[in-house]
Amino acid sequence: MSLQQQVVTEFERQFGAPPSVVVRAPGRVNLIGEHTDYNEGFVMPMAIDRATWIAVRPRSDQTVRLHSMDHDETTEFQLDALERGKGWQEYPKGVAWALREKGYALTGWEGTTICDVPLGAGLSSSASYELAVARAFAGVSGFSWDAPKMALISQQAENQWVGVNCGIMDQMISAVGEQDHAVLIDCRTLETTSLPLPEGTSVVILDTATRRGLVDSAYNERRRQCEEASRYFGVRFLRDVTLEQFDARGKQLDEVTRRRARHVITENARTRMAAEAMKRNDALCLGELMNLSHDSLRDHFEVTNHELNVIVDLSRATRGCLGARMTGAGFGGCAVALIESVQAGDFVKGVVSAYRDETGLNPAAYVCRASEGASEVKMVGPEESD
Ligand code: ADP
Ligand code: MG
Repeated sequence: MSLQQQVVTEFERQFGAPPSVVVRAPGRVNLIGEHTDYNEGFVMPMAIDRATWIAVRPRSDQTVRLHSMDHDETTEFQLDALERGKGWQEYPKGVAWALREKGYALTGWEGTTICDVPLGAGLSSSASYELAVARAFAGVSGFSWDAPKMALISQQAENQWVGVNCGIMDQMISAVGEQDHAVLIDCRTLETTSLPLPEGTSVVILDTATRRGLVDSAYNERRRQCEEASRYFGVRFLRDVTLEQFDARGKQLDEVTRRRARHVITENARTRMAAEAMKRNDALCLGELMNLSHDSLRDHFEVTNHELNVIVDLSRATRGCLGARMTGAGFGGCAVALIESVQAGDFVKGVVSAYRDETGLNPAAYVCRASEGASEVKMVGPEESD
């Protein structure tokens, strides 16, 4: 049964009637442009074919009641009396809070949710959940859907309600994703350019089965170092430092801050070059840029862990691989590889077994397709379903 069918079936079991609105919002994998979003730079993620689904119907009061099939728990809160708590219910509460802050009039609803983005694996289940909730509110409250605006509101929910200091990439791609395309996003202007993958290539996500754990402090330290480097160059964000300026003036920075800045400045350049490579259908160049991105994240930004480096090295040594790198914030989670589509089956088998042998861990690997961003799904009536 598809997730859509499962969430609708569960809704009908709980409420005795079909839902009036079904929404989905995808997770993401970032092809290139890592730790650049909070420097107002460039990223090039794609929305993946894994998503949070929510089936809902409106209520006549200010109550939101949501059953999570993944947690096997139901949460309930009042839109006009939101209180901070802990756990998975803080995401929908945070989105409700941020929407109200921006002046949206919200209707209560009840519903069920299910998700096949692995939670906490670095594929941004959190953004997929936020955007799905925002889309559900749009569906029942009847306000118009403005994708970048909803991404900003969801980011505000995660930053200020949940308390995770993330950049804008995850929410943007979950909102604006396009089927069969990666999306170059300018994180300053939120301008987007959709680009198809080079012909004959596929994207494989490789989950190291390690998790980033308690590394908020390392992430916040990277952000502080980027701010320090920006101050040194006299700009608000590293986005505004060119490679020439870095080469000319970077030497006086202390060694660690210089390496952090070097990563961000070169990564912005690589991401724009990667977009140009895609426009030329140049798979080799795109793959090489992904390799360079990983090396910079490993050596200069220092956000990889041993397992990410192992899975990337094994991928690169496996037939059909055009490029491989860690993806997401790092310190654990997933890598992404660009491969020749005809080699997909053997590539996945080869890397999974080599990684298992080397680390004793059991990795997951998915060949994934780019999917559409947050959307309301047209319900198929019983007469159309067979
Ligand atoms: P990531 O975004 O990389 O998957 P995060 O730590 O940012 O990891 O978010 C994971 C947390 O978000 C989960 O532990 C859970 O509390 C919550 N979450 C995300 N998606 C869902 C969902 N669809 N349903 C319920 N909770 C979710
Ligand atoms: Mg997240």
